[in-house]
Amino acid sequence: MGSVGGERLLAQMSYVGEPPADAVLLNANENPLGPCPEALEAMAGMLKRGGRYLFGEVGRLGRTFAEMEGLRPDQVQPYAGSSDPLHRTVLAFCGPGRAFVKGEPGYEAGEMAAARAKAKALKVPLTKDNEHDVDAMLAAAGAEAGVFYLCNPNNPTGTLTKRAAIERLVEKRPAGSVVLIDEAYIHFSDAPACLDLATQAKDVIVLRTFSKIYGMAGLRAGLAISQPETLDRLRYFGAGFLPTTGMAGATASLQAKHVAVERKKYVAEVRAGVFEWMRQKGYSFVPSVSNKFMVDVKRPGREAISAMAAQKVMVGRVWPSWPQHVRVTVGTREEMEKFKAAFERVMG
Ligand code: PLP
Repeated sequence: MGSVGGERLLAQMSYVGEPPADAVLLNANENPLGPCPEALEAMAGMLKRGGRYLFGEVGRLGRTFAEMEGLRPDQVQPYAGSSDPLHRTVLAFCGPGRAFVKGEPGYEAGEMAAARAKAKALKVPLTKDNEHDVDAMLAAAGAEAGVFYLCNPNNPTGTLTKRAAIERLVEKRPAGSVVLIDEAYIHFSDAPACLDLATQAKDVIVLRTFSKIYGMAGLRAGLAISQPETLDRLRYFGAGFLPTTGMAGATASLQAKHVAVERKKYVAEVRAGVFEWMRQKGYSFVPSVSNKFMVDVKRPGREAISAMAAQKVMVGRVWPSWPQHVRVTVGTREEMEKFKAAFERVMG
């Protein structure tokens, strides 16, 4: 795939034009609750000190996370979100003859980076239970593997891959390849995290973000967790300066331990309500343990997205491998009421 393919993907991932101010935004897996009060206060404090670089805020975030998770601070590297270390990982470890291997449907950002690195992107269909098919991923890559990308829970399906399969991938991958485990949505599920794999096995990287459960998508904070030597390989691709607002907001979000617990519960309740409604109405969807789900719209997905947008409910996007499914983000209770009304009209 050349750069044109990369640009096509970027267009596919973006808003279609500017949504109306009163639109319901269920199209980017954001958190409508936004930053928690503790994060808002910490970030407001940072605005007044905005004339300073305050390099220490980066270390403070890394240490806070390391301490909470029983890691060493040199195993944690903060970033301005998780897109940045995802992109860097592909640039560092993929290239001609070193493929980027992912599940399909799966998050597309790595493919865009692979196009820039002139690496092949190998898209391996999920299993019938919508898990990553790690054996097929290993077979597809052969000795050409650069990065195996595994998102857990997966985006867009919101489904889990079993820990045993992830361990098998780490164990069986060809020498020199990297396993990149994207845990952007892990807090919404009960799945065991893979931080231990990232610190114990060579060249395994886990990504975390504050964009999802912590509601800081526009404020930018994320983490890469791995062995220090692997993290060093990523540092090469940037200067390393990070926004103090994002760092302080992220640290405060972690310290407010109730936040992730409460938000997980809220999303699970809203999601269960929508799924119950969909079952009653006979709509077909993929049961998800995340803040988004795939629904079968029984027609080209783009048509349903446009019809929903006409009712000011923005959903989407579509994956070419699942052309009649559309991804829907779980919003607030009120937003999902608007979704239900619009969806029923669109489905006729
Ligand atoms: N990884 C996955 C699976 C995502 O869905 C997203 C955003 O939607 C990201 C990473 C990037 O998030 P951010 O750069 O905001 O941390």
